[in-house]
Amino acid sequence: MEDVIIVGAGPAGLTCALYLLRANKKVRILEAKNYGGQIVNASKVENYPGIVRISGYDFATNLYQQVLNLGGKITYETVVKVLGDKTVITNNNTYHGDFVVLATGACNRKLGLPLESKFLGKGLSYCATCDGNFYQNKVVAVIGGGNTALEDALYLSLIARKVYLIHRRDSFRGEEKYIKEVEAQDNIEIIYNANVVALAGEEQLEQITIQDNLGKQKELEVQGLFIAIGQVPQNEVFNNIVDINEYGYIITHDEVYTKTEGIYAVGDNRVKSLRQLTTAVSDGSIAATEIIKNMAKKSK
Ligand code: NAP
Repeated sequence: MEDVIIVGAGPAGLTCALYLLRANKKVRILEAKNYGGQIVNASKVENYPGIVRISGYDFATNLYQQVLNLGGKITYETVVKVLGDKTVITNNNTYHGDFVVLATGACNRKLGLPLESKFLGKGLSYCATCDGNFYQNKVVAVIGGGNTALEDALYLSLIARKVYLIHRRDSFRGEEKYIKEVEAQDNIEIIYNANVVALAGEEQLEQITIQDNLGKQKELEVQGLFIAIGQVPQNEVFNNIVDINEYGYIITHDEVYTKTEGIYAVGDNRVKSLRQLTTAVSDGSIAATEIIKNMAKKSK
Protein backbone atom coordinates (compact mmCIF):
# COMPACT_ATOMS: atom_id res chain seq x y z
CA MET A 1 0.00 0.00 0.00
CA GLU A 2 1.46 3.32 -1.10
CA ASP A 3 0.47 6.85 -0.22
CA VAL A 4 0.77 7.88 -3.85
CA ILE A 5 1.27 5.96 -7.08
CA ILE A 6 2.68 8.08 -9.90
CA VAL A 7 2.24 6.74 -13.42
CA GLY A 8 5.00 8.15 -15.62
CA ALA A 9 8.55 9.32 -14.88
CA GLY A 10 8.79 12.40 -17.08
CA PRO A 11 9.35 15.91 -15.66
CA ALA A 12 5.76 16.17 -14.32
CA GLY A 13 5.79 12.77 -12.59
CA LEU A 14 9.32 13.12 -11.19
CA THR A 15 8.61 16.63 -9.88
CA CYS A 16 5.49 15.32 -8.16
CA ALA A 17 7.60 12.55 -6.61
CA LEU A 18 10.25 15.07 -5.52
CA TYR A 19 7.72 17.18 -3.62
CA LEU A 20 6.01 14.16 -2.05
CA LEU A 21 9.28 12.53 -0.98
CA ARG A 22 10.40 15.77 0.61
CA ALA A 23 7.19 15.60 2.65
CA ASN A 24 8.07 12.00 3.67
CA LYS A 25 5.25 10.39 1.70
CA LYS A 26 5.44 6.81 0.45
CA VAL A 27 5.64 7.00 -3.33
CA ARG A 28 5.74 4.39 -6.07
CA ILE A 29 6.70 5.63 -9.53
CA LEU A 30 5.68 3.35 -12.39
CA GLU A 31 7.27 3.85 -15.81
CA ALA A 32 6.88 1.75 -18.96
CA LYS A 33 10.08 2.84 -20.75
CA ASN A 34 12.80 5.22 -19.51
CA TYR A 35 12.82 8.11 -17.07
CA GLY A 36 12.74 11.65 -18.45
CA GLY A 37 9.87 11.59 -20.93
CA GLN A 38 10.04 13.62 -24.13
CA ILE A 39 12.51 16.20 -22.82
CA VAL A 40 15.40 13.71 -23.09
CA ASN A 41 15.12 14.19 -26.86
CA ALA A 42 15.69 17.96 -26.71
CA SER A 43 19.31 18.71 -27.63
CA LYS A 44 19.22 21.91 -25.62
CA VAL A 45 16.82 23.61 -23.26
CA GLU A 46 17.30 27.37 -23.01
CA ASN A 47 13.93 28.52 -21.74
CA TYR A 48 13.84 26.95 -18.30
CA PRO A 49 14.09 29.84 -15.84
CA GLY A 50 17.33 29.91 -13.90
CA ILE A 51 19.21 27.50 -16.18
CA VAL A 52 21.05 29.19 -19.01
CA ARG A 53 21.42 26.07 -21.13
CA ILE A 54 21.18 22.34 -20.48
CA SER A 55 20.58 19.27 -22.62
CA GLY A 56 17.20 17.61 -22.15
CA TYR A 57 18.96 14.42 -21.13
CA ASP A 58 21.00 16.20 -18.43
CA PHE A 59 17.91 17.98 -17.15
CA ALA A 60 16.02 14.69 -16.83
CA THR A 61 18.99 12.93 -15.25
CA ASN A 62 19.44 15.70 -12.66
CA LEU A 63 15.77 15.50 -11.74
CA TYR A 64 15.92 11.70 -11.56
CA GLN A 65 19.00 11.98 -9.31
CA GLN A 66 17.14 14.39 -7.01
CA VAL A 67 14.38 11.78 -6.65
CA LEU A 68 16.93 9.00 -6.00
CA ASN A 69 18.69 11.14 -3.38
CA LEU A 70 15.40 11.32 -1.48
CA GLY A 71 15.04 7.52 -1.52
CA GLY A 72 12.67 7.37 -4.50
CA LYS A 73 12.92 4.69 -7.14
CA ILE A 74 11.22 3.80 -10.37
CA THR A 75 9.45 0.49 -10.96
CA TYR A 76 9.64 -0.30 -14.67
CA GLU A 77 6.24 -1.80 -15.46
CA THR A 78 3.49 -0.88 -17.91
CA VAL A 79 0.19 0.23 -16.41
CA VAL A 80 -2.73 -1.50 -18.11
CA LYS A 81 -5.60 -0.29 -15.92
CA VAL A 82 -6.34 2.07 -13.04
CA LEU A 83 -9.52 1.49 -11.06
CA GLY A 84 -11.58 4.13 -9.28
CA ASP A 85 -10.55 2.71 -5.90
CA LYS A 86 -6.92 3.61 -6.80
CA THR A 87 -5.88 0.07 -7.66
CA VAL A 88 -3.21 0.19 -10.35
CA ILE A 89 -2.76 -2.91 -12.49
CA THR A 90 0.46 -3.34 -14.46
CA ASN A 91 1.70 -6.05 -16.80
CA ASN A 92 3.34 -7.71 -13.73
CA ASN A 93 1.64 -6.62 -10.53
CA THR A 94 -1.26 -4.94 -8.81
CA TYR A 95 -0.64 -1.96 -6.53
CA HIS A 96 -2.93 0.06 -4.35
CA GLY A 97 -2.50 3.69 -3.35
CA ASP A 98 -4.48 6.34 -1.50
CA PHE A 99 -3.87 8.70 -4.43
CA VAL A 100 -2.90 8.16 -8.06
CA VAL A 101 -1.19 10.71 -10.30
CA LEU A 102 -1.36 10.18 -14.06
CA ALA A 103 1.77 11.72 -15.58
CA THR A 104 1.86 9.80 -18.83
CA GLY A 105 2.76 12.65 -21.20
CA ALA A 106 2.36 12.06 -24.89
CA CYS A 107 4.17 10.13 -27.62
CA ASN A 108 5.38 10.99 -31.10
CA ARG A 109 2.72 11.60 -33.72
CA LYS A 110 3.11 9.34 -36.76
CA LEU A 111 2.72 10.53 -40.34
CA GLY A 112 0.52 7.54 -41.06
CA LEU A 113 2.29 6.51 -44.28
CA PRO A 114 2.17 2.84 -45.31
CA LEU A 115 5.93 2.14 -45.01
CA GLU A 116 6.52 4.29 -41.90
CA SER A 117 7.00 1.36 -39.51
CA LYS A 118 9.06 -0.61 -42.06
CA PHE A 119 11.70 2.13 -42.23
CA LEU A 120 11.74 2.91 -38.50
CA GLY A 121 15.40 2.51 -37.48
CA LYS A 122 16.29 2.06 -41.15
CA GLY A 123 16.50 5.71 -42.12
CA LEU A 124 13.38 6.91 -40.33
CA SER A 125 13.48 8.34 -36.83
CA TYR A 126 11.39 10.41 -34.40
CA CYS A 127 14.45 11.60 -32.45
CA ALA A 128 17.22 13.62 -34.07
CA THR A 129 19.35 13.82 -30.94
CA CYS A 130 19.17 10.03 -30.51
CA ASP A 131 19.85 9.02 -34.13
CA GLY A 132 21.40 12.09 -35.79
CA ASN A 133 24.95 10.80 -35.52
CA PHE A 134 24.24 8.00 -37.99
CA TYR A 135 23.90 10.61 -40.73
CA GLN A 136 27.40 12.12 -40.92
CA ASN A 137 27.71 13.84 -44.32
CA LYS A 138 24.44 12.36 -45.53
CA VAL A 139 21.31 14.05 -46.87
CA VAL A 140 18.37 14.08 -44.48
CA ALA A 141 14.91 15.60 -44.21
CA VAL A 142 13.00 16.87 -41.19
CA ILE A 143 9.21 17.22 -41.24
CA GLY A 144 7.34 19.68 -39.05
CA GLY A 145 7.03 23.37 -38.26
CA GLY A 146 7.28 23.53 -34.47
CA ASN A 147 10.25 24.04 -32.15
CA THR A 148 11.16 20.36 -32.31
CA ALA A 149 11.46 20.36 -36.11
CA LEU A 150 13.43 23.63 -36.10
CA GLU A 151 15.80 22.39 -33.41
CA ASP A 152 16.18 19.03 -35.12
CA ALA A 153 17.04 20.73 -38.42
CA LEU A 154 19.66 22.89 -36.68
CA TYR A 155 21.17 19.94 -34.85
CA LEU A 156 21.28 17.80 -38.00
CA SER A 157 22.81 20.63 -40.05
CA LEU A 158 25.96 20.22 -37.93
CA ILE A 159 26.19 16.52 -38.83
CA ALA A 160 24.57 15.98 -42.22
CA ARG A 161 25.70 17.41 -45.55
CA LYS A 162 22.25 18.76 -46.33
CA VAL A 163 18.98 19.06 -44.45
CA TYR A 164 15.58 19.57 -46.07
CA LEU A 165 13.10 21.09 -43.65
CA ILE A 166 9.63 20.30 -44.94
CA HIS A 167 6.59 22.04 -43.50
CA ARG A 168 2.98 21.75 -44.59
CA ARG A 169 2.19 25.47 -44.23
CA ASP A 170 3.86 28.71 -45.34
CA SER A 171 5.07 29.72 -41.89
CA PHE A 172 6.54 27.98 -38.87
CA ARG A 173 4.84 27.85 -35.51
CA GLY A 174 8.12 27.57 -33.59
CA GLU A 175 10.03 30.40 -31.90
CA GLU A 176 11.41 33.30 -33.95
CA LYS A 177 14.91 32.71 -32.57
CA TYR A 178 15.05 29.19 -34.04
CA ILE A 179 13.43 30.29 -37.31
CA LYS A 180 16.17 32.92 -37.81
CA GLU A 181 18.89 30.37 -37.04
CA VAL A 182 17.39 27.87 -39.51
CA GLU A 183 17.11 30.51 -42.22
CA ALA A 184 20.75 31.50 -41.70
CA GLN A 185 22.11 27.95 -41.99
CA ASP A 186 23.55 27.36 -45.49
CA ASN A 187 22.93 23.63 -45.63
CA ILE A 188 19.26 23.79 -44.59
CA GLU A 189 16.76 24.06 -47.45
CA ILE A 190 13.27 25.00 -46.30
CA ILE A 191 10.38 23.59 -48.31
CA TYR A 192 7.06 25.20 -47.37
CA ASN A 193 3.55 24.09 -48.31
CA ALA A 194 4.50 20.45 -48.81
CA ASN A 195 3.63 17.11 -47.30
CA VAL A 196 5.58 13.87 -47.48
CA VAL A 197 3.26 11.43 -49.24
CA ALA A 198 5.44 8.37 -49.92
CA LEU A 199 8.59 6.63 -48.70
CA ALA A 200 10.72 4.32 -50.82
CA GLY A 201 13.83 2.18 -50.53
CA GLU A 202 14.94 -1.45 -50.52
CA GLU A 203 16.11 -2.24 -46.96
CA GLN A 204 16.94 1.35 -45.97
CA LEU A 205 15.01 4.51 -46.74
CA GLU A 206 16.36 6.01 -49.97
CA GLN A 207 13.74 8.40 -51.27
CA ILE A 208 10.73 10.43 -50.17
CA THR A 209 7.99 11.94 -52.31
CA ILE A 210 6.67 15.37 -51.39
CA GLN A 211 3.51 16.96 -52.67
CA ASP A 212 2.76 20.67 -52.74
CA ASN A 213 -0.61 22.30 -52.09
CA LEU A 214 -1.47 22.14 -55.81
CA GLY A 215 -0.91 18.38 -55.89
CA LYS A 216 2.45 18.57 -57.69
CA GLN A 217 4.81 15.80 -56.59
CA LYS A 218 8.60 15.67 -56.42
CA GLU A 219 11.07 12.99 -55.31
CA LEU A 220 13.93 13.78 -52.92
CA GLU A 221 16.86 11.40 -52.41
CA VAL A 222 17.48 11.23 -48.65
CA GLN A 223 19.15 8.71 -46.38
CA GLY A 224 17.40 9.94 -43.25
CA LEU A 225 13.93 11.21 -42.42
CA PHE A 226 13.20 12.79 -39.04
CA ILE A 227 9.52 13.16 -38.22
CA ALA A 228 8.88 15.99 -35.75
CA ILE A 229 5.17 16.68 -36.08
CA GLY A 230 4.17 16.86 -32.45
CA GLN A 231 2.87 14.46 -29.88
CA VAL A 232 -0.34 12.63 -29.13
CA PRO A 233 -1.48 11.57 -25.67
CA GLN A 234 -2.29 7.94 -24.90
CA ASN A 235 -5.05 8.12 -22.34
CA GLU A 236 -7.55 5.53 -23.64
CA VAL A 237 -6.42 3.10 -20.94
CA PHE A 238 -7.71 5.55 -18.30
CA ASN A 239 -11.12 6.27 -19.86
CA ASN A 240 -12.91 4.47 -17.01
CA ILE A 241 -11.66 7.02 -14.45
CA VAL A 242 -11.15 10.30 -16.34
CA ASP A 243 -12.96 12.34 -18.98
CA ILE A 244 -11.05 12.67 -22.23
CA ASN A 245 -11.58 15.39 -24.86
CA GLU A 246 -11.87 14.91 -28.63
CA TYR A 247 -8.07 15.12 -29.04
CA GLY A 248 -7.39 12.48 -26.38
CA TYR A 249 -6.33 14.82 -23.54
CA ILE A 250 -7.58 14.35 -19.95
CA ILE A 251 -10.06 17.00 -18.82
CA THR A 252 -9.12 18.37 -15.40
CA HIS A 253 -10.60 20.96 -13.06
CA ASP A 254 -8.75 23.19 -10.60
CA GLU A 255 -5.66 22.46 -12.69
CA VAL A 256 -4.80 18.85 -11.80
CA TYR A 257 -7.97 17.22 -10.40
CA THR A 258 -9.79 14.63 -12.55
CA LYS A 259 -13.42 13.64 -12.17
CA THR A 260 -12.43 10.75 -9.87
CA GLU A 261 -11.60 11.64 -6.29
CA GLY A 262 -7.94 10.95 -5.49
CA ILE A 263 -6.87 10.70 -9.13
CA TYR A 264 -4.89 13.58 -10.64
CA ALA A 265 -3.50 14.30 -14.11
CA VAL A 266 -0.30 16.30 -14.63
CA GLY A 267 1.87 17.37 -17.55
CA ASP A 268 1.31 17.02 -21.28
CA ASN A 269 -1.47 14.41 -21.00
CA ARG A 270 -4.10 16.92 -19.86
CA VAL A 271 -6.03 19.76 -21.48
CA LYS A 272 -4.02 22.96 -20.97
CA SER A 273 -3.04 26.08 -22.87
CA LEU A 274 0.71 25.48 -22.91
CA ARG A 275 2.68 22.23 -22.91
CA GLN A 276 6.21 23.07 -21.84
CA LEU A 277 8.78 21.83 -19.36
CA THR A 278 7.86 24.72 -17.07
CA THR A 279 4.15 23.85 -17.09
CA ALA A 280 4.85 20.11 -16.64
CA VAL A 281 6.94 20.65 -13.50
CA SER A 282 4.40 23.21 -12.32
CA ASP A 283 1.64 20.59 -12.58
CA GLY A 284 3.76 18.04 -10.71
CA SER A 285 4.38 20.38 -7.81
CA ILE A 286 0.74 21.52 -7.65
CA ALA A 287 -0.59 17.93 -7.59
CA ALA A 288 1.88 16.95 -4.85
CA THR A 289 0.92 19.94 -2.74
CA GLU A 290 -2.81 19.27 -3.20
CA ILE A 291 -2.29 15.61 -2.25
CA ILE A 292 -0.35 16.54 0.88
CA LYS A 293 -3.20 18.89 1.88
CA ASN A 294 -5.87 16.28 1.11
CA MET A 295 -3.97 13.60 3.04
CA ALA A 296 -3.91 15.86 6.08
CA LYS A 297 -7.69 16.43 5.72
CA LYS A 298 -8.31 12.68 5.43
CA SER A 299 -6.32 11.85 8.55
CA LYS A 300 -8.25 14.39 10.68
P1 NAP B 1 4.13 21.29 -32.20
O1 NAP B 1 4.52 22.61 -31.69
O2 NAP B 1 2.78 20.74 -31.93
O3 NAP B 1 4.35 21.32 -33.78
C1 NAP B 1 4.01 20.24 -34.58
C2 NAP B 1 4.26 20.63 -36.03
O4 NAP B 1 4.00 19.50 -36.84
C3 NAP B 1 3.36 21.77 -36.51
O5 NAP B 1 4.11 22.66 -37.29
C4 NAP B 1 2.32 21.05 -37.35
O6 NAP B 1 1.90 21.79 -38.44
C5 NAP B 1 3.09 19.86 -37.87
N1 NAP B 1 2.23 18.71 -38.12
C6 NAP B 1 1.33 18.14 -37.29
N2 NAP B 1 0.75 17.07 -37.87
C7 NAP B 1 1.31 16.96 -39.10
C8 NAP B 1 1.15 16.06 -40.16
N3 NAP B 1 0.30 15.02 -40.10
N4 NAP B 1 1.88 16.24 -41.29
C9 NAP B 1 2.74 17.28 -41.37
N5 NAP B 1 2.97 18.16 -40.38
C10 NAP B 1 2.25 18.01 -39.26
O7 NAP B 1 5.13 20.13 -31.71
P2 NAP B 1 6.65 20.21 -31.24
O8 NAP B 1 7.46 20.98 -32.19
O9 NAP B 1 7.05 18.80 -30.95
O10 NAP B 1 6.59 20.99 -29.86
C11 NAP B 1 5.74 20.55 -28.80
C12 NAP B 1 5.87 21.52 -27.62
O11 NAP B 1 7.16 21.39 -27.03
C13 NAP B 1 5.73 22.97 -28.06
O12 NAP B 1 5.06 23.67 -27.05
C14 NAP B 1 7.14 23.42 -28.19
O13 NAP B 1 7.31 24.82 -28.03
C15 NAP B 1 7.82 22.65 -27.08
N6 NAP B 1 9.26 22.46 -27.37
C16 NAP B 1 10.12 23.30 -26.78
C17 NAP B 1 11.49 23.18 -27.03
C18 NAP B 1 12.45 24.11 -26.37
O14 NAP B 1 11.98 25.01 -25.70
N7 NAP B 1 13.75 23.97 -26.54
C19 NAP B 1 11.96 22.21 -27.92
C20 NAP B 1 11.04 21.38 -28.52
C21 NAP B 1 9.67 21.52 -28.25
P3 NAP B 1 0.97 23.11 -38.29
O15 NAP B 1 1.90 24.18 -37.81
O16 NAP B 1 0.45 23.29 -39.67
O17 NAP B 1 -0.09 22.72 -37.30
